[in-house]
Amino acid sequence: MSTLLGIVAPPTSRKRLRWVADKLRKRLKWDEAWFPIMEVIETALGDIAPGFVFDVLDRGEMGLNHGLTLVQERRLILREDVYEGACNGQRRDRMTAAHELGHALLHADVALARRIDKEVKTYEDPEWQAKAFAGELLISSQHIGGCRDYRQAAETFGVSEDAARQQMRVFEKEGILLK
Ligand SMILES: [Zn+2]
Repeated sequence: MSTLLGIVAPPTSRKRLRWVADKLRKRLKWDEAWFPIMEVIETALGDIAPGFVFDVLDRGEMGLNHGLTLVQERRLILREDVYEGACNGQRRDRMTAAHELGHALLHADVALARRIDKEVKTYEDPEWQAKAFAGELLISSQHIGGCRDYRQAAETFGVSEDAARQQMRVFEKEGILLK
């Protein structure tokens, strides 16, 4: 979410984010298209993002935030309804969970700085990085080949049609997926 707005992370390419996502899938020995994001957060978070704990807070505490990752406290938090949604396969909530996992993996051990003098480039924006990571993790380049269109991809990967469309555009641009 927007807690890191105006903050700059070390530059990271989409290629590297894909590498991190693929490495995580490999480490978990998970080679199916549909990624079990909540099982991973609930059972393996502290292993894959050392020292991190997972918390669920209610709306009163979270307000409009669907999820929050406090990198210094090493806490990944989901709002109660988002947590339940993600557990039940709600597509948008699964993506929120993957986004927060992205922050935990990418932003806990790097120097984040506040930038006021010049524009933050996309690839150094921690929000872009977490979002791109979530796309790469939930919509794997290894499995996209079997999908006819974004609707089928949304179904296969358990993500919103919007997210599937965006990720397929990335794969098309890179020639991983032919138009
Ligand atoms: Zn975020």
